[in-house]
Amino acid sequence: MNPWIARNLVYRPATWLRGEPVFRLLRRYEQTQWWPAARIAALQEDGVRSILRHAAASTAHYGDLVREAGLDPATLETKDLARLPLLTKLDLVERGGRLQAPMRPGATSWKTTGGSTGVAVRLRKDRFATAAEQAASWRSYAWYGIGPGDRQARFWGMPQTTKARLRFGAIDFILNRDRFSAFAFRREDLGRYYARVAATRPAWVYGYVSMLVQFARHCLDEGLALAHAGVRAVVTTSEVLTPGDRALLADAFGAPVYDEYGCGEVGAVLYECERGTKHLMAENLFVELLPDPTPEEPEAARLVVTDLHNRATPLLRYDLGDRVVPAPPCACGRGLASFARVFGRAYDVVETSDGTRYHGEFFLYVLEEARERGLAVRQAQFVQTDADALELRIVASAEGGGAGAWMARELEARTAGRLRVAVREVGSIEREPSGKIRLIRALPLGNPARPVSGPAR
Ligand SMILES: [Zn+2]
Repeated sequence: MNPWIARNLVYRPATWLRGEPVFRLLRRYEQTQWWPAARIAALQEDGVRSILRHAAASTAHYGDLVREAGLDPATLETKDLARLPLLTKLDLVERGGRLQAPMRPGATSWKTTGGSTGVAVRLRKDRFATAAEQAASWRSYAWYGIGPGDRQARFWGMPQTTKARLRFGAIDFILNRDRFSAFAFRREDLGRYYARVAATRPAWVYGYVSMLVQFARHCLDEGLALAHAGVRAVVTTSEVLTPGDRALLADAFGAPVYDEYGCGEVGAVLYECERGTKHLMAENLFVELLPDPTPEEPEAARLVVTDLHNRATPLLRYDLGDRVVPAPPCACGRGLASFARVFGRAYDVVETSDGTRYHGEFFLYVLEEARERGLAVRQAQFVQTDADALELRIVASAEGGGAGAWMARELEARTAGRLRVAVREVGSIEREPSGKIRLIRALPLGNPARPVSGPAR
């Protein structure tokens, strides 16, 4: 679809019909990003006070918490936020109803998100919050030269039921996106996908790292040039983007690669600017950084967010289970908080029987080192099979092996023998029901006997 038509005759009326002021907020966020940090902080302070008072007055969960803390719901101030406990994904699952505020019918929509805990979370979101989330994303995609209506090739999961397919088909049409299924990734599918990308010439490509890498590698191997397809940006999300994969994608698509960080519950949290700094979507989210250093990253902090807009299900002090490394103000001039890195999903930690913990980054470094040594690995996954054993699943490349054995030796040596590593060559890495691939499948912390099961993220 022509981008102008898609933007003005399809997407814009659709947002209007749904009562979602995406375009009004987008114009505002294009301004606020340039505000000085102090002015953005003041905006956030007002937002926190407002959502805090609303949550205390309108939800059973926060009403109780505020009273237990000896606070008066009517006079709550921003500083009182810190007196509330952190909110976890499990709270969302177990206390979903008590977190909801009454809203008039039609003022909200449901959002289902996969959880790293293996449990899907259903969340009610009001129209304004949904619009705010989309506006922040469009504001940031503009950094890459992408706007609403621009054609998108989306490498993503494919809904499995007819009803869901119809629904997502309509959403894809409204947003001018062409969907490439995570579940059909055989050689002939990849060939078909190339023909589709070459013919439709998407302005941008969006999707899971693992899918984009597999597609890009296929195109490079087969000598299928993508550069002439006119892709302006590649945006990756939801999985770890290693420096090696970033370089590979940039090479294959002939376009810059940007990594998005967020989650279904609060939407996008961080986007990379043109200078590579990760910026907070500060108009929508207030963040608290709880110091949580690692040996490699002494500045690292746990990321805890408060959604400033979702009045249907207020999320205050929501613990995302990830760490960030703060960065100095960015030379791009935006007042949005800056971060150098984000890493470490809660479940990415492998704990051995003596209580030693190995972070997901640890495994990622070994994988990157293997690639830097020229030991070809197409794909890898680290699966903890019991407390002291790891299975390294490898999709070896045609250029020959050696990578698995090298990584197994390195992992055993670097963990001082705490982990026995068995290498298993596989044809492909199994996807989660969502379509995503997990780089590390660890056993739950503190209870290494219980196996990981169910969908993730
Ligand atoms: Zn910047």
